Amino acid sequence: MTTELHDLEPILETVRKLCADFPGAYWREQDRERAYPTAFVEAMTASGLLGALIPETYGGSGLPLTAAAAILEEVHACGANAAALHAQMYTMGTVLRHGSPAQKSQYLPRIATGELRLQAFGVTEPTAGTDTTSITTRAERRGDTYVINGQKVWTSRAEHSDLMILLARTTPKDQVNRKTEGLSVFLVDMREAVGKGLTIKPIRTMFNHATTEIFFDNLVIPASSLIGEEGKGFRYILDGMNAERILIASECIGDGRWFVEKASNYARERKVFGRPIGQNQGVQFPIARAYADVRAAKLMTCEAARLYDMGQPAGEEANIAKMLASEASWRAADMCIQTHGGFGFAEEYDVERKFRETRLYQVAPISTNLILSFVAEHVLHLPRSY
Ligand SMILES: Cc1cc2nc3c(=O)[nH]c(=O)nc-3n(C[C@H](O)[C@H](O)[C@H](O)COP(=O)(O)OP(=O)(O)OC[C@H]3O[C@@H](n4cnc5c(N)ncnc54)[C@H](O)[C@@H]3O)c2cc1C
Repeated sequence: MTTELHDLEPILETVRKLCADFPGAYWREQDRERAYPTAFVEAMTASGLLGALIPETYGGSGLPLTAAAAILEEVHACGANAAALHAQMYTMGTVLRHGSPAQKSQYLPRIATGELRLQAFGVTEPTAGTDTTSITTRAERRGDTYVINGQKVWTSRAEHSDLMILLARTTPKDQVNRKTEGLSVFLVDMREAVGKGLTIKPIRTMFNHATTEIFFDNLVIPASSLIGEEGKGFRYILDGMNAERILIASECIGDGRWFVEKASNYARERKVFGRPIGQNQGVQFPIARAYADVRAAKLMTCEAARLYDMGQPAGEEANIAKMLASEASWRAADMCIQTHGGFGFAEEYDVERKFRETRLYQVAPISTNLILSFVAEHVLHLPRSY
C-alpha cells in the first residue's frame, strides 16, 4: 500500500498538536531525572498513533510504513523524543509476520490499544555484541515449557513493557550446520517473569533512555511462547530490521529538521558586532549544508519506505538511509551547538539534550561500520570482512 504525502497532513497535524503539550521544559525535567516520559507515552498511546502499522483486522490503523515514518519524524522535529515508545509501533511486526493465528488474535488487538505494551526487544548480549549468532542465552525445551538462562544488555524499555521479544539459542552453535540456525524467538510475558527468574537492572546512560540489562536464571516460560518454528528465529529477527532502520532514519531526519530550524532562528535573532550572526557566511553556510544533508537523507529514507510498502527488497536502501540520516542529524547537532556559541551548552536551549540524544543512532540499532560492511558485501560484492 502507498500513501500520498498529502494524505499524511492530518496525521502530522495531530502529532504537532500532541507534541505542543510537551515542550522543552517537559523534556528537560525528564532528562534531568532520567525519568520515563510516561505522560507523553500515554498521550501518544491514547491518540492511536502507535497502532499505525497494525492491520485494521487486529484493531490498528493499517497504515503503511511511510506513514509511521512520517509520524516519528514529526515527533522528533517537534523537539520530542520517540525512543520511549517507538518500539510499540514496530516490535509487534515479529508476531504479525511469524506468529500463529492464536498469538496474533491474542496479542495484536491489545497491543493496538496500548493495553499491552510490547516495547522490549532482547537481542544484544554483552559478549556477542554485533555478532548476533554468537549469543549464548539458552532456551531449553522441558515438556510444555522452555527454561531460559543467560543475559541480555541494552534491552531498552524493559521496565515499561509487558511483553518482550526474546532471541535465544535453542540449539548450541557447535551443533548446527550454519550458525544462523538454532536460534529461536519467544514472546515473553514479563509481568509473570519478573522476580521468578527474570531480573531487570537499569543502565544509566549519557541521555535519557530507559535501557537495561536483563538476567535470566532458570526462567520458565510456556512452550506456547515460541514464535514460528524453533531454530528459525534469526531469520524472523532479520525480517524486522528494515522497518526499524527506516523508522530510526526518520527520527534522525526529524532531529535534523529541529537542529536546522533552531539554529536558523537563533542566527537570525542573535546580534554580535551589531548584526545578526546569520549574516556571516561562516555561520549561515553550515546551517545551509546541514539542511541539504538532511533533505538528501530524507530522499533515501522515503525511497526505502516506498520499496518496503510495495513489498520489494529494501535492505540496501533501509541501511543506507539509516546511515545517512544518523550522520546528517549528528552534523546538524554539531552545527547547532556551534551556531549557539556558549548558549548551546546551556540546558534551557534544549540543544545539548538533543545533541546527546541524536548521537545514539550511529551506534544503535546497528553501527555505521556494520552498514558499510553490508553495502560492501551484499551490494558491491566485495569479500566479506568478518
Ligand atoms: C541506548 C541503547 C539502546 C539499545 N537498545 C537495544 C534494544 O532495545 N535491544 C537490543 O537488542 N539492543 C539494543 N541496543 C544495542 C545496540 O543494538 C548495539 O549497541 C549495537 O548494535 C552495537 O553493538 P555493540 O554495542 O555490541 O558493539 P560491538 O559489536 O561491540 O562493536 C563495537 C564497535 O566496533 C565496531 N565493529 C564491530 N565489529 C566490526 C567489524 N566486523 N567491522 C568493523 N567494525 C566493527 C562497531 O561498528 C562498533 O563501532 C542498544 C544500545 C544502546 C547504546
